[in-house]
Amino acid sequence: MVYFDKEKRLYMCEVCKLHYTKKEDAEKCQKWCSSHDSCNLSIARRSVEAVSRRSHI
Ligand SMILES: [Zn+2]
Repeated sequence: MVYFDKEKRLYMCEVCKLHYTKKEDAEKCQKWCSSHDSCNLSIARRSVEAVSRRSHI
């Protein structure tokens, strides 16, 4: 199960600690992270961290 942050209303992958607005994205990330040693970039790019990093540039 992914972690839900009630204050931020975001879902978090408990392995890599990235946050997602969609539960299914967080579940996909966590499923990938727990069976692989690295992050799946096509999933991680949808994380809140990746999106906010892009908008700051
Ligand atoms: Zn992850």
